[in-house]
Amino acid sequence: MTKVLVVGGGIAGYCAALAARRDGADVTIVARAPGATALYAGGMEIIDDLDAILQSPQHPLARLGMDAVGLATELDAAISTLQLALRKEGLAFEGGWRTRGLYADIHGLARPANLVPQSVARGELGALSGKRVAVIGVPQVGDYDAASTAQALKELHSVEAFAEEISIPDLPQAAALTDLYGRRAPAPRARGAAIAYPPGFTNLPADGFELLAAAPSPHGWRLQQAIALGSVTTEITSFETAPGRIVAARAASRTFRADAFVLATGRHIGGGLRAGRVTTEPLLGLGVFHEGVPAPVAGSRLHHLKYLDPAVEMRLGVITDKRLHPLTEDGLAPYANLYAAGAMLGGYDYSGPCGFGVPILTGWLAGHFAAKQIA
Ligand SMILES: Cc1cc2nc3c(=O)[nH]c(=O)nc-3n(C[C@H](O)[C@H](O)[C@H](O)COP(=O)(O)OP(=O)(O)OC[C@H]3O[C@@H](n4cnc5c(N)ncnc54)[C@H](O)[C@@H]3O)c2cc1C
Repeated sequence: MTKVLVVGGGIAGYCAALAARRDGADVTIVARAPGATALYAGGMEIIDDLDAILQSPQHPLARLGMDAVGLATELDAAISTLQLALRKEGLAFEGGWRTRGLYADIHGLARPANLVPQSVARGELGALSGKRVAVIGVPQVGDYDAASTAQALKELHSVEAFAEEISIPDLPQAAALTDLYGRRAPAPRARGAAIAYPPGFTNLPADGFELLAAAPSPHGWRLQQAIALGSVTTEITSFETAPGRIVAARAASRTFRADAFVLATGRHIGGGLRAGRVTTEPLLGLGVFHEGVPAPVAGSRLHHLKYLDPAVEMRLGVITDKRLHPLTEDGLAPYANLYAAGAMLGGYDYSGPCGFGVPILTGWLAGHFAAKQIA
């Protein structure tokens, strides 16, 4: 049985493990801490326009060298397996990568998403248009204001929203939204209306839904807890290599030997990239590229661009060949049994319409390639 080590406990590492296990591999996931996955707002953006992606040669999904039908087939498999696995962990998601909805966040602003938790799905803005919606406020909470959220829902999205404040007396003075996490949803007085709750409550009534979150996000925390089950908590500090191969990953008190390795260490929050004058990949010194050019070669011009527009830093990252082998700065894939996945990859807008799509699909394929040891 092929032994696969996945380094990274976010959504990319989780999808890699799902695919590798499906292919019969013996999989270990190692993660030092939660990363960006634990911060997502509550709506997974998978893909908006597959054809446009295939027209962008540096996009990580375009670099796979697959056509639209191939990518669609893999997305179908990855998303349905992910939904099934999360449902088993008690976290049901609705939607699919081919459909998009708009969901309001705690300030009443709309965000697009393809997949959302069941508790968010009922709040799709198109379905709420013209409906009465009670927005629940908690007077003890200082970092959220139901009245202004209701006003935004009315003015921006034509929802007949109104605020209803419900006191929760045992909350601390000047409580934060995070203090609501895990509490039972209070029942409103308003009848015949849909009910919008700030995120974090449990046991929502049948007509209730959760708004999307700002970080720290209850949606992200629930997802992170669901996917972290069974992973080993430790930090990989280095790799043991032989010519053309990785042999083992080393942590402070343990060495993990495997036949194949998936690096899904995320971007700056996860720790997969280290920002600085020149952004680097800290574990193996892999190449970090901007629009196909190694970051050190792009030099001060890139540095200047980063000052002008933070989105430039967000497009920097590791690039791979068609089999997700990460490349060095000179464009070579040094290790036949190493695969890279997730937000560490560059060439796409990390906070854009593939925020979860790239980690899910590259994770899924990296797990498959690793289990089959595809060189
Ligand atoms: C604030 C915020 C909000 C976002 N909101 C959305 C959203 O609403 N919708 C959307 O679609 N996308 C959103 N995104 C983007 C999305 O969350 C990320 O693209 C995605 O979660 C990245 O997943 P990942 O698995 O690649 O990385 P991460 O989730 O960052 O996981 C990286 C993992 O690698 C581990 N790791 C790193 N180095 C080591 C090491 N040396 N040893 C062991 N483990 C290591 C980390 O501890 C972590 O477990 C958001 C991002 C941010 C930052």
